[in-house]
Amino acid sequence: MRERIELVDDFAAAWQNAGCPVVFTGAGMSTESGLPDFRSARGLWKRRPESLATLDALQRIPAEFYFFYQWRIARLWAAAPNAGHEALAALADAGLVRRLITQNVDGLHQRAGSEATELHGTLRTVSCLRCGAAYDSRRLLPAAPGWEEAYQAGRYLPGRECACPACGGSLRPDVVLFGEALPPAAWDEAVNASKAADLFVVVGSSLAVGPANLCPEFALAGGARLAIINQEATSLDGRAAWVFRDKAAGVLTAVRERIFPPGVEDKA
Ligand code: NAD
Repeated sequence: MRERIELVDDFAAAWQNAGCPVVFTGAGMSTESGLPDFRSARGLWKRRPESLATLDALQRIPAEFYFFYQWRIARLWAAAPNAGHEALAALADAGLVRRLITQNVDGLHQRAGSEATELHGTLRTVSCLRCGAAYDSRRLLPAAPGWEEAYQAGRYLPGRECACPACGGSLRPDVVLFGEALPPAAWDEAVNASKAADLFVVVGSSLAVGPANLCPEFALAGGARLAIINQEATSLDGRAAWVFRDKAAGVLTAVRERIFPPGVEDKA
């Protein structure tokens, strides 16, 4: 216990004194908001997202493709930022986050008040494969009640909500699907920020997805000190100055409270 308190104290002091702190988040950031991740034991990975999250699947098995995204979109809009998202927004407000890079597509950092570089796009919007028109992703949700149960019972068919109201083309989620390149501007921002970092904080990422997982490598190569807050071991734990095998919201709240003790305004 005492060791953990000292580790948090040491990490919070390093964060407060860092010249260029950069934060990199993954799906584990949002599990405490009720959104499952892909790879940990109870994650969505068991539902084969690697074979569903492709343009090929949209064309070949549209019912499964659309159900997978409708299921995720419905939960995304029902979820709220957790204390970890809020702690990062407070630290950013005080100038203690030079850049927040996220692999998440849920928009919870932005809803908590942070600006984020979204490496994998967003599930808050969908767009038409034919004419490019963009819509709020809730347009993709079936109006008919009972669609989740219908899918489980093998009776689900994607309906008109999956077609563009302007031209009838297929709507797709604005996320980076497997086999697609990362958005070039976001990737450039992430690479430059990682290389410039003197403190690089990984939160809730298995570091298994490339090329995003190169960001902490760029940071280390540039001389940054690395912190990893992740419930499971990662391939970079051995190179990190701080490893918290803990829930993200608790660690980030503890850091926030060390830097801004309760009762003191969040100001750098
Ligand atoms: P991942 O699923 O590969 O890894 C998540 C990691 O977070 C796991 O190692 C797990 O142990 C850890 N974790 C889970 N809950 C945690 C918590 N409360 N505190 C600390 N650690 C926790 O996720 P990834 O590395 O982001 O890569 C997967 C891909 O999945 C990304 O491309 C991302 O776009 C996508 N994804 C996003 C969301 C989202 O936007 N919320 C959800 C699922 C998947």
